[in-house]
Amino acid sequence: MNANLRSIDEVGVLLAAQRKAFDHEGTVDAATRKRRLQAVIDLLVAEQQTLVEAMDSDFGGRHPGYGLMNDILGALASLKHARDHVEGWMQRDPRPAFPPYDQLGAEAWVQYQPKGSVGIIGTWNAPLFTLLSPLAGVLAAGNRAILKPSEVTGNTAAVLAAAIGERFDPLELAVVTGGVEVGQGFASQPFDHLVFTGSTVVGRDVMRRAAENLVPVTLELGGKSPAIVGRSADIADAARRLAIAKMTNSGQICVSPDLVYIAVEHKQAFIDAFRAAVISLYPNANGNPDLVAVVNERHQQRIDRYLADALEQGAEVLRCPDEAPVPESRKRPLSVVVNPPLRSLVMEEELFGPIMVLLTYSDLPSVLAEINARPRPLALYYFGQNPAEQDYVLSHTLSGGVTINDAMMHPAMHDAPFGGVGASGMGHYHGREGFRQFSHARTVFKAPAYDPRAEWGLLPPYGEQFLMAMRAQVNPG
Ligand code: NAD
Repeated sequence: MNANLRSIDEVGVLLAAQRKAFDHEGTVDAATRKRRLQAVIDLLVAEQQTLVEAMDSDFGGRHPGYGLMNDILGALASLKHARDHVEGWMQRDPRPAFPPYDQLGAEAWVQYQPKGSVGIIGTWNAPLFTLLSPLAGVLAAGNRAILKPSEVTGNTAAVLAAAIGERFDPLELAVVTGGVEVGQGFASQPFDHLVFTGSTVVGRDVMRRAAENLVPVTLELGGKSPAIVGRSADIADAARRLAIAKMTNSGQICVSPDLVYIAVEHKQAFIDAFRAAVISLYPNANGNPDLVAVVNERHQQRIDRYLADALEQGAEVLRCPDEAPVPESRKRPLSVVVNPPLRSLVMEEELFGPIMVLLTYSDLPSVLAEINARPRPLALYYFGQNPAEQDYVLSHTLSGGVTINDAMMHPAMHDAPFGGVGASGMGHYHGREGFRQFSHARTVFKAPAYDPRAEWGLLPPYGEQFLMAMRAQVNPG
């Protein structure tokens, strides 16, 4: 069978074959898992150039160094971490048996077993990372997988599909390419687990489809990640770090800071420092090889619509760097929208592009109330040197993850779970939590040779002794 699938019917046939091979082979050992992980690592190393060029052409301008850092090295880090730790993660986890069986020689343990075949749907903004980073946990857990890349980055999808087709037995790993229709059909397949990275709206549809087959899902969704710059923060430093984060991939990142809260008296100092920081990184937008382009015309129009709406509603919009956008170029300056009305598109929609909203505040509790009135974000950022305020922010908000005194750092950790909460997703991958997510935690109880129940009067026909024994145990201790 060809590993390069084009239709949902082919996916259905391959999935059935993968599950059959899985049942036949049984739980695979550490050596097999490491071999599969190494094969993906080798693929990325060998194909790095073609993959990076494909991403560059898909975006119409994405620096090869950035492609290597974000997608190739990001995925490699997850895969290598899994390869180097899988043996420890796989070990059976002994648990104490309950009394009196523990005294009689019973044994018990939890065994992390592979689930079977896992489907992984990825996005365009990190077209390799959103497929291959979860794949690290999926393969470490001993599963087989089928990947569905985003059609928006079609060249990258084609290169990846061809490379996997050449190097993998499709019974272990395969790729299906296609758009929304293929995605819908994919989410309707009876996988043993489904990983979806994408928007919250599509995530709802994916979960509905998976529910038809009772397929467990990991949903890595988006949202509006807020950054709170406390009064105790070093304003220039916070502005610089937020500028670096916001400009990364031109804001086309799920954990990109979307809403930035700044104390009203620090507004101008923040804007001045933020602007200076952006200009030092990107002196110009149009034609700048370091700036990632907005991925396509449809997304550019979406961003233009948000900005037009903010301007129409009287919001102040600043450009960093301060240059007029060139209509035929999708390398755009960052637009900072200051204090837009609550009912504007930039306040309602995930920005996912070169826009940032700056909101001034006078008291922190009202900032937290505003954040908590919104769906739970994927990330939250707090800048400040006041430990009590830091604790207050952490204990009165909920988000997928948090970075303190910087932005977008916590998802880069390979031995800590990455995932959302509420509308920003469910479940997680990375590190041992990813391994466990894609494993079935199977409890095993091994009975002792001696069965004391009849001798102790615990079996029917029940006598008075049984009732008394049960009553004696009902106590608050
Ligand atoms: P999207 O939801 O439009 O598409 C994601 C994938 O789903 C694509 O492969 C697409 O073909 C497929 N798809 C589309 N409709 C489908 C359907 N009805 N059923 C099944 N599959 C379907 O998202 P996008 O535009 O590619 O990516 C941007 C979104 O992804 C943003 O919201 C961003 O925050 C989020 N994101 C989240 C993470 C994370 O780790 N949490 C990472 C990257 C991006």
